[in-house]
Amino acid sequence: MKYDVVIIGGVAAGTSAGASAKRTDSSLDILLIQKERFISYGGCGLPYYVQGIVKNIDDLIEFTPQEFREKKGVEVLPEHEVFEVDFERKIVKARSVNDGDVKEFEYKKLVVTTGASPIIPDLEGIEDERIFTIRTPEDAMRIRRFIEEKKPKSVAIVGGGYIGVEMSEAFRTHGLRVFLIEMMDHLLGNAEPEINEIVVNTLERNGVKVLLKTQVEKFIPDERIKVITDSGDIEVDMVLISVGVKPNAEIFDNVRKGIKGAIEVDEMGRTSMKDVFSAGDCAVVKHFITGENVYIPMGTTANKQGRIVGRNVAGRGERFIGVLGSSITKIFDVEFGRTGLTEEEARKFGYDSGSVYIKSSSKAKYYPGSGPIHIKLSFDKETGKILGAQMVGSSVHRRVDIVASAIYGGLTVEELGYLDLAYAPSFSPVWDPVLISGNVARRYLKLDNR
Ligand SMILES: Cc1cc2nc3c(=O)[nH]c(=O)nc-3n(C[C@H](O)[C@H](O)[C@H](O)COP(=O)(O)OP(=O)(O)OC[C@H]3O[C@@H](n4cnc5c(N)ncnc54)[C@H](O)[C@@H]3O)c2cc1C
Repeated sequence: MKYDVVIIGGVAAGTSAGASAKRTDSSLDILLIQKERFISYGGCGLPYYVQGIVKNIDDLIEFTPQEFREKKGVEVLPEHEVFEVDFERKIVKARSVNDGDVKEFEYKKLVVTTGASPIIPDLEGIEDERIFTIRTPEDAMRIRRFIEEKKPKSVAIVGGGYIGVEMSEAFRTHGLRVFLIEMMDHLLGNAEPEINEIVVNTLERNGVKVLLKTQVEKFIPDERIKVITDSGDIEVDMVLISVGVKPNAEIFDNVRKGIKGAIEVDEMGRTSMKDVFSAGDCAVVKHFITGENVYIPMGTTANKQGRIVGRNVAGRGERFIGVLGSSITKIFDVEFGRTGLTEEEARKFGYDSGSVYIKSSSKAKYYPGSGPIHIKLSFDKETGKILGAQMVGSSVHRRVDIVASAIYGGLTVEELGYLDLAYAPSFSPVWDPVLISGNVARRYLKLDNR
């Protein structure tokens, strides 16, 4: 069978690419091949399904294959895994995951949106069935079923990134004792020391035992699972591994790879192979500040890159502006968010960077519900340009987005300090914490007019 466009992988990037290609040119015949039975799901909502806030897994599914076909005009072949691509003859070979039946499809343009898979460390005992990862709806259903049926009393989470932290809350909601094990001295990838301290305190206050600078060496499965670490052993009823992801790019061995083995793409989503595009967690993305390719796999980016690739396979020439690594998460009653570079990261790229740390309140202090908010803002001391921020506390969401927008707009800390942000006591103090951070940063500039 022949198609104008064949897409491999059908979650955020793949469905965005398919829908936008068809919207751009409705005459295109498009086929989307997906390994799983689900397509188009909100992976970001999986911790909330395990927690129970989201009752049914179907609530996380945007479109079934049939709905996607009917509403977006894209043919879908679920439960088929692409195992080979003949780039010379432009042929994709897919095998049914149910009966092994092999089908071949010819393409004019190919879109690789195969995403990423959890990294499974090579540790003794890791194959025990009470040791889980979370990536797909099936993974989340397995974890929730285990909790409901086996009634575990404790869990060790290996890896203190976003998923580990979010899953801590999910497990606490079910009453489990939670050990969060992280080999670095901080959580959430690159949390700054002042910010990290608040994150750790929040977790501990909510019953999560945080073990930093602790490396898991092996598991000894018995009636319970003994987790052997370099600083002592713990016994738990289940384990979640959340030590990061790796791009699903191995089968495309002729396509140029970049950082962490992710597929190299340019701003238009083109790979090194003619007529082959890629987007999402299997691909690199350009960093807006440094201009370098990075691997920051996020749902937000997968959607945007996918949309651009979709338009480009349909004949447009759109370019992606690049990412700042903006992200946010909720840690019980506290929010953590970040965007751009830390002072230290910026220095590695040659910036004469500085940073300030301020504490303020989320609303006017007298207004009910006001809570503390801590901001660490990084900037270029020479030019005053804002480079990044990390925040923790109340109402972080809109504030981290203000800083992200300011970076995209090329604003300086002085300009940030005087932005006309909407104010009323129920939303912020009259000097919003973001404005304060800009005004404090200004004192450390090397400019005459500070
Ligand atoms: C628990 C959790 C929470 C998250 N929270 C957030 C969040 O709050 N914010 C955020 O921005 N991001 C979050 N993410 C990340 C986000 O889910 C991913 O960035 C996003 O799903 C990436 O989309 P994708 O389409 O690139 O890849 P994927 O979602 O990985 O989809 C790729 C699909 O391709 C299929 N596939 C792979 N190889 C083949 C093949 N050979 N043949 C056919 N099909 C194939 C895979 O089975 C998969 O279904 C979270 C992720 C998880 C797991």
